[in-house]
Amino acid sequence: MKKKAPVVKNQEFDATVIDLTYEGNGVVKVDDFPIFVANAVPGEEIRVGITKVAGTYAFGRVIKTLKESADRNKDVDVATLTTGIAPLAHLNYDAQLRFKQNQIQELFKKQHVDVEVSETLGMENPTGYRNKAQIPTRELRGELTTGFFRRGSHNLMPIEDFYIQDPEIDKAIVVIRDILRKYHIPAYNEFEHTGVIRNIMVRRGYYSHEMMVVLVTRSKKVPGAEMIVADIREALPEVKSIIQNVNQEKTNVILGEKNNTLWGKDVITDTLFGKKFVIGPNSFYQVNPQTTETLYQLAADKAGLTGDEEVIDAYSGIGTISLTIADRVKSVLGVEVVPGAVDDAKRNADINGVNNAKFELGKAEEKMVEWHEAGMRPDVIFVDPPRKGLTPELIDAATGMEPEKFVYISCNPATLARDTVQILENGYHIQGPVQPIDQFPQTTHIESVTVFVKD
Ligand code: SAH
Repeated sequence: MKKKAPVVKNQEFDATVIDLTYEGNGVVKVDDFPIFVANAVPGEEIRVGITKVAGTYAFGRVIKTLKESADRNKDVDVATLTTGIAPLAHLNYDAQLRFKQNQIQELFKKQHVDVEVSETLGMENPTGYRNKAQIPTRELRGELTTGFFRRGSHNLMPIEDFYIQDPEIDKAIVVIRDILRKYHIPAYNEFEHTGVIRNIMVRRGYYSHEMMVVLVTRSKKVPGAEMIVADIREALPEVKSIIQNVNQEKTNVILGEKNNTLWGKDVITDTLFGKKFVIGPNSFYQVNPQTTETLYQLAADKAGLTGDEEVIDAYSGIGTISLTIADRVKSVLGVEVVPGAVDDAKRNADINGVNNAKFELGKAEEKMVEWHEAGMRPDVIFVDPPRKGLTPELIDAATGMEPEKFVYISCNPATLARDTVQILENGYHIQGPVQPIDQFPQTTHIESVTVFVKD
């Protein structure tokens, strides 16, 4: 018989926080029954209030902190931040770095993979780093409002200081919000699927200081577009590109496929290792420009490139990895699924005078199989997949080509650990420790580099 939950809604009691989940919630237990509590640090004693009871677990909130942990970050308004944009902001930065190293260790252990994980490489100033914002807009009290969704919901909390975003971007969001208010442009209503502005996306080049503003709209037209553009240009001189992106679907996906350039360029530029990159609105670009160079440098160094290698760069985005290693290899072949990103990658090769890099449009898992069947024999394969990781077919095809090295850049240690099992089975071993790099301070996201070498 199913055991009855030992707690009920609204119950209050004192407890010690014993663990932290992948989502950054504290864990307290009653008779082994776990209760997840936001803004609670392991070691703390708290008064918990039960907010929701599910089958095998419950959620609670901190009513009062009775004993505080030394790992607590007291410098921020964590009540706001932990609800969405910065779920680890209640930990001090050292504790965050340890949390990330530990997560990777635990996930490998679960897969029975014995591997060393280095200390997480962190940032000196782990706030204000994001070069991109995608801010939802909703009508609150009759006004277009910008902010952030409360964790696990679509309730917009008005916020102006986003803490982890480039402060210039935070300022721009407020300016754009006020311009949209001035012209009474209605925000999106997701229940009725009405209104105009769904999101405001802003990107700012870290070195170039070029800004791109993307207004994501439900409607095909933006009423008063000319006046809005004129006001944005006047108020934000860094803006080099103003784009309307149309997304008419009922979806949580932010960007639609259609872009209209309302004013200026259709891309902005930024630099990495002194090379110039154009970045279009639908293209992926690493959000933490300060650690990206460290990440790529590490991946390239660990691959031990000598200048003779034929390389595959799978999930190549706008070609940043390919083009930054191009002068250390014989040739590099990228594959990427977003057409705009492949266009950017080709443009980026041209701009930087790189002629040993090629980019193909397609799914990495399909291209890898094609290349394997065609008898391709790369020396090194880099993969940098999205959170869902690799597919078994991709791993079989990639290892089937028998590269000497297989460098896995991962933004999700759960799928990394899962994929590692198959890569090891296919005749590879891990070289040196796995290296976590903190691309996403204050959040639960974890980036790492793992190098596999042919047995
Ligand atoms: N290496 C690049 C991009 C990494 S992000 C960089 O560091 O900037 C992952 C990229 O994979 C994104 O550009 C995304 O559009 C792309 N992508 C997602 N699924 C894919 C698939 N199945 N095949 C190829 N590319 C894919």
